[in-house]
Amino acid sequence: MITATTIEEVRNVIKKWKAEGLTVGLVPTMGALHEGHASLVEAAVAGCDRAVASVFVNPTQFGEGEDLDSYPRDFARDCEVLEAKGCDMVFHPAVEEMYPDGYGTYVNLESEMTKQLCGKSRPGHFRGVCTVVSKLFNIVTPDRAYFGEKDAQQLAVIRRMVKDMNYGIEIVGCPTVREADGLARSSRNSYLNEEERAAAVVLYRSISRAKEMLAAFGAPSAEDPADAGALKAAMTEIVSSEPLARIDYIEAVDGETLLPKERLVSGDLVAMAVYIGKTRLIDNFTI
Ligand code: AMP
Repeated sequence: MITATTIEEVRNVIKKWKAEGLTVGLVPTMGALHEGHASLVEAAVAGCDRAVASVFVNPTQFGEGEDLDSYPRDFARDCEVLEAKGCDMVFHPAVEEMYPDGYGTYVNLESEMTKQLCGKSRPGHFRGVCTVVSKLFNIVTPDRAYFGEKDAQQLAVIRRMVKDMNYGIEIVGCPTVREADGLARSSRNSYLNEEERAAAVVLYRSISRAKEMLAAFGAPSAEDPADAGALKAAMTEIVSSEPLARIDYIEAVDGETLLPKERLVSGDLVAMAVYIGKTRLIDNFTI
């Protein structure tokens, strides 16, 4: 696996690959890699001739008082995970390589979709995400880029940005990888102590309950949609029963625009953010 720390190094390798007619897949990450990230790399390796992963804790997507400084970093281990999955190149730039002195250009999706869900408690987050992903798209010029459905709002925002800005890149969404008890894998799970880790399963329990309710109703359709209020109430009751949990939001939204909806049909999204102690966890499912 090639390790590149400068944009120039990446461009030189990509130029060579493209001259050989090879397709390139990109997996953007912030490192502290786990099985979720590994599944994206697997998909990129399977779907493209060459797979590139980026490992960069992007400061512009963290807000004041968030965990930029304490975010877990272990690049040596990340390289082992990537190499084992057959990744061809990892791009691991310093902050100054991505945001040199005088940096001033940001990509901002201005429609309502970035103001919903996580956008409410993390203003500026998606501006940082869109900016860094745009830069990575320009540096790597991939044919396909792979993102996890675990970050459903991020995936919807990237799809919109790609459409709006005419990036000729196919965005591939990959299913959420979970622990044995259902907790979605996340780099932030490492913040949880033993008691919190046990409590964190409440997110998945509430999702499982909502899915059971949907299964009992039968598949929702335009004529017979699912009631968002009933699903949210059942999920809220389960999460509220866990003393260590504090709900940031449990919302039902249109899967594409992310605007709130009362009557849900196939493709709509139920998403949640819950604090377990001081750690903010997210999860979701698509109707
Ligand atoms: P991050 O390093 O948290 O920025 O995540 C990098 C990519 O991995 C994003 O596209 C995430 O959606 C994806 N990802 C994170 N956790 C999971 C998971 N449990 N299953 C699938 N994809 C994930």
